[in-house]
Amino acid sequence: METRRKRALVTGGSRGIGKAICLMLAKNGFDLLLNYKSNDERANETQKEVEKYKVNCKILKFDIADFKYSFNLLNEEVEKNGNIDVLILNAGVRKDTLFPLMTEEDWNYIIDVNYKSFFYIVKPIINGMFHQNYGKIVVISSTAGLMGMQGQVNYSSSKFGIIGAAKSLAVEVARRNVNVNIIAPGYVETEMIEEEMKRKSELVKIVPARRFGTPDDIANVVEFLISDKSSYITGQVIPVNGGVYT
Ligand code: NAP
Repeated sequence: METRRKRALVTGGSRGIGKAICLMLAKNGFDLLLNYKSNDERANETQKEVEKYKVNCKILKFDIADFKYSFNLLNEEVEKNGNIDVLILNAGVRKDTLFPLMTEEDWNYIIDVNYKSFFYIVKPIINGMFHQNYGKIVVISSTAGLMGMQGQVNYSSSKFGIIGAAKSLAVEVARRNVNVNIIAPGYVETEMIEEEMKRKSELVKIVPARRFGTPDDIANVVEFLISDKSSYITGQVIPVNGGVYT
């Protein structure tokens, strides 16, 4: 009997850390559902690179902060095409500013994209994982989800919050062989830290490993967390930060 290839959804899979995760999953033979919000060119480039591994890569362009749309689209995807086996909640944004200057818009935007979307993305997918007795969820949080950061009251709240959500979900679904873990990256060289990259020679001095991380440093840990080698690890935060916060 032919077994179906496993399917993975990566939010924010078009560039940065999400792209490295998509390529790692493709190398491991997963069919991909690649989500992004607006940059079509980057998504199409990543799709082409993924397809070189002879797996399917379906693009799902939607704003994860459009809750109703995300929920309905993923519900329909699962109903029509079957369960999603691996879910990587990676898409994230930041809008740093000192708290006295932070607007309600800055606050809501970050909480919606980085935190509230958890409910609407996981909901349509978790039942399938639960009933098939298999699933892997990896949430990309941040060092800002472990410690306070200047100018990041909004971002840090969202990244702490998502750790709590993932830890509690892990406890609920562990008996069904569904693992939920969290990665907390430090500085990783992507467009998200464009500003920090300009001050790299100065900032790198606070990293014990004396370098910024690469998207592959994160994808390598995701690879372990979705493998059978980590099947007894659930509800845990793995910091990947070159020793910045120990
Ligand atoms: P990035 O290079 O800025 O890429 C962000 C990705 O998320 C893009 O694919 C983007 O799509 C997508 N995205 C943004 N808003 C979205 C939305 N509302 N709906 C759907 N997709 C959306 O970011 P990154 O550095 O790879 O970060 C990935 C994750 O790691 C984030 O959760 C981030 O908070 C976390 N992280 C990063 C670092 C770091 O140093 N880079 C450190 C700690 C944690 P478009 O291109 O279409 O906008």
